Amino acid sequence: MKKLPLNYLRNIIIIGLVILSFSCSKKNDDTVTGFTSTKPGANAFVTAFISDINADTLSAYTLWLQNMQPRFMLSANRRNVAVSIKNKFIQLGLTNTVLDSFYVTNYYKDTTYNTWQFNVIATVTGSQYPDSLYIVGAHYDAILNPPGNPWLGSPGADDDGSGVASLLEMGRVIIKRGFTPKSSIKLIAFGAEELNMEGSLDYTTKAMLGNKKIRWMLNNDMISYENHANTADWKVNLMDYANSGDLRVSAENYVSMYTDLGKIHDSTANKEGDSYNFYLKGYKAIFFISAASTPYYHQLTDVVGNCNFPYCREVTKVTCAMLVDQNR
Ligand SMILES: [Zn+2]
Repeated sequence: MKKLPLNYLRNIIIIGLVILSFSCSKKNDDTVTGFTSTKPGANAFVTAFISDINADTLSAYTLWLQNMQPRFMLSANRRNVAVSIKNKFIQLGLTNTVLDSFYVTNYYKDTTYNTWQFNVIATVTGSQYPDSLYIVGAHYDAILNPPGNPWLGSPGADDDGSGVASLLEMGRVIIKRGFTPKSSIKLIAFGAEELNMEGSLDYTTKAMLGNKKIRWMLNNDMISYENHANTADWKVNLMDYANSGDLRVSAENYVSMYTDLGKIHDSTANKEGDSYNFYLKGYKAIFFISAASTPYYHQLTDVVGNCNFPYCREVTKVTCAMLVDQNR
């Protein structure tokens, strides 16, 4: 190697430093001008935490769920579906994940069905208040409206693959960050929602009989449909119940602090999701759902290609921010 003169070396170092400072300032600019810029009241720890929530990962999880179809609760594969979701949580590092089984009787198309069903419950145990529970839930079963045959196909990407994907993604980020919450976090993929919301009925009945201290429950059900091209028009609906108006106002603040989403409050359909069973047992719950009404509801066209995962990411960020902020 040829030895370089001293002046030449000094010039190279100066040019290198100039290039380095340019590339650093560009990186900082990108961070602050993105869709997720820091808002008044936002906490730096929470902002950094939820920045890991990724639209591509949410899309991949939802496609993985879609490909398991039928996810109909009366299909013979229902236990396999639950076991697959349990194993996915465990693969992500949420080793305390269990199936919780229950027996139900349902009437569907003039026939009585007696079946075992399964909730998938992933727990991150709290360091200070392990008996205090913060829950985010979604349902993994899917259905088709008549005349569709859900045994033959029930893709359920938005309803509610998107919600289950949000649970997996929050779990992934919690493990990635090595986060130990003060109270316990439960990410629950409910079974058997589409006929009588059996999974949340069973969970809340057991919780009430066991005097469980559920601080609140957030229900992510249908959180990936948004057809407006302009992100400024994206909105989320926060449905509340007679006992959870204060929690809804708090959730609206999280939407404002951590996303650019608009928000509406239309609780017309608040009985149509798992959060309703939490309310009926006296627990506080909020139902997060896309404000835009989907034309693919309970259709064979409820597939990943009709979902908007950058939107799903924003809704997931809200529930993740609430979980983390309450427990840091
Ligand atoms: Zn649903």
